[in-house]
Amino acid sequence: MSHDICCWKCGASLAALSLPFGRTERCKQCGADLHVCKLCVDYDPRVADQCREPTAQDVRDKQRANFCDHYKPRAGAYQPQATTAADAARAELEKLFGK
Ligand SMILES: [Zn+2]
Repeated sequence: MSHDICCWKCGASLAALSLPFGRTERCKQCGADLHVCKLCVDYDPRVADQCREPTAQDVRDKQRANFCDHYKPRAGAYQPQATTAADAARAELEKLFGK
């Protein structure tokens, strides 16, 4: 089964790995766990518990391999621009408050 999912952490293509990802699957480039909330379609930092699936178990660490039955990897989990923009905004704020 072909897909265009990339590592949530470094953005490396995971196309060489077949779906579904196992719980011990890791990114060959950066070693990040792949069966994690950060790479899941239900991951959403704006909602409670950062998960849109209400029946999913509470996964505390969103970057470590989990046992969640709802896990489904999504393409586009890697967003370098969003992180950079947030970091830039924070840096601006800290400058403003003389940090
Ligand atoms: Zn990676």
